[in-house]
Amino acid sequence: MANCDMCGNETKLCAVEVEGTMMNVCSKCAGFGNVIRKIEPRIDIRTKKVIQRRQEPEIIEMIVEDYAGKIRKKRESMGMKQKEFARFISERESLIHSIETNKFEPSLKLARKLEKLLRIKLVEEIEDRKPEAAAKGEQTDGQGFTLGDFIKKR
Ligand SMILES: [Zn+2]
Repeated sequence: MANCDMCGNETKLCAVEVEGTMMNVCSKCAGFGNVIRKIEPRIDIRTKKVIQRRQEPEIIEMIVEDYAGKIRKKRESMGMKQKEFARFISERESLIHSIETNKFEPSLKLARKLEKLLRIKLVEEIEDRKPEAAAKGEQTDGQGFTLGDFIKKR
């Protein structure tokens, strides 16, 4: 915060031209001159951007696309029929059949169980990068040079 050039109040300032002279004044005194531009509290905006960048991407767990083939191949490599396999993982035979024929996608819970029992990968973790947020974080505001930068550089 800086002080108004006219009344000395410590508040948010506007740059105004008063009788040909540039002054930083408060909103009350701004009425005396022509407002050139508002001095935005840009530092706040920048802090927000930093927080956005540091945000951990959300992880989404998904069943792999070829779960049916993977499970069937594994079962065959173990020399088991669907019936035996069903007993082995303590699920219904009809469920194994549906999964292997791509008619039924196993739940995450079931997929995790099968991963453990069969030692195959059935769940993949995908980072959910929100495209809008990422774009915003990378975006430069065009003006680039702020009052904060000016003070730092001097
Ligand atoms: Zn003032």
